[in-house]
Amino acid sequence: MSKSDAKLRLQREEPYTKRRRIGPTKCNVCSSDSTITHSHDSRFWFGDGDIVFRVQDSLFKVHRSKLRCSTVLWDMFELPQPAQVDNVDGCPLVVMAGDTAKDWSTVFRWMYDPAGFATQAGVFDVLAGALRVATKYDMPALREAAIQGLQFRWPLSPASMTLNAFSNAAEAISLARECDVPSIRPAAFYALSIQRWSYDAEGGSSLLHLSPEDARRLICGQQLLNNFHLQIVINPLVSETESTRTCDHCASYMADYWRRKFTPDDSSPHSCWMVKVLVDMILNNFDLSDIGIQICTPCQSYHRSLVYERLTVLVKEIPMIFR
Ligand SMILES: [Zn+2]
Repeated sequence: MSKSDAKLRLQREEPYTKRRRIGPTKCNVCSSDSTITHSHDSRFWFGDGDIVFRVQDSLFKVHRSKLRCSTVLWDMFELPQPAQVDNVDGCPLVVMAGDTAKDWSTVFRWMYDPAGFATQAGVFDVLAGALRVATKYDMPALREAAIQGLQFRWPLSPASMTLNAFSNAAEAISLARECDVPSIRPAAFYALSIQRWSYDAEGGSSLLHLSPEDARRLICGQQLLNNFHLQIVINPLVSETESTRTCDHCASYMADYWRRKFTPDDSSPHSCWMVKVLVDMILNNFDLSDIGIQICTPCQSYHRSLVYERLTVLVKEIPMIFR
């Protein structure tokens, strides 16, 4: 959304003044007409605040100086203000149309309590709310903090992905599209593509967050990854680049080893996580001690090159597959 679009949404609330005349009683916190549904977020209702935000039915009385972090809001306040503005508790009222109180509560927490915000930064809803508001109102520092939090769960390289990537993956894909954060999409797509919905309590309902285009991308990507997996199972020792092969002594044992490693575990909540299988082989220093025989040195070397080759292909291809 452009800055001008965002500014247009920051409208003074006309009906508010009219409705205020109807009720005889006043709210004892902000002096608003108590017949108008509203609540105050006590964490962000400062006695010396100089501006009141209304977001949905929530009111926030905060300090205008805190809004320097947003170029959209700060630019708006720099403009000459109309003589007649709605007031709440002696402060001008700004209505944030199209936003949610929950998202703004997150943003005010970041403004007033960055340490508290950081402790919540692993929670998807917190990051998503912060990113949405930061993008709409051009808050670069908050946007960067939110993106860093998201990239912790959906890293640039699929090789760095952990179990944290599985929950909210579909929501992350939609959020990335909405707020233009393409960097988290490959890992989120990859996590989604290997998730087993029958093992999940929500039964795949989160897939409904995907746009039709992203759903198509997910299905196509799954098919390409399944093909890659199938090639390993059918021809576990065939390299795309290496001309050497394993010796007859080691071949069948090594083929069994690769097939075993790439057989999905029925009790796992995900199908074959190929990237992790390969990364674990490297982390375990290519240990082949459980293979059944002593593998000769040239075959050990070939095994290592196969691991690196396949991991390199996957890490390169996954972002392209889900582009
Ligand atoms: Zn050998």
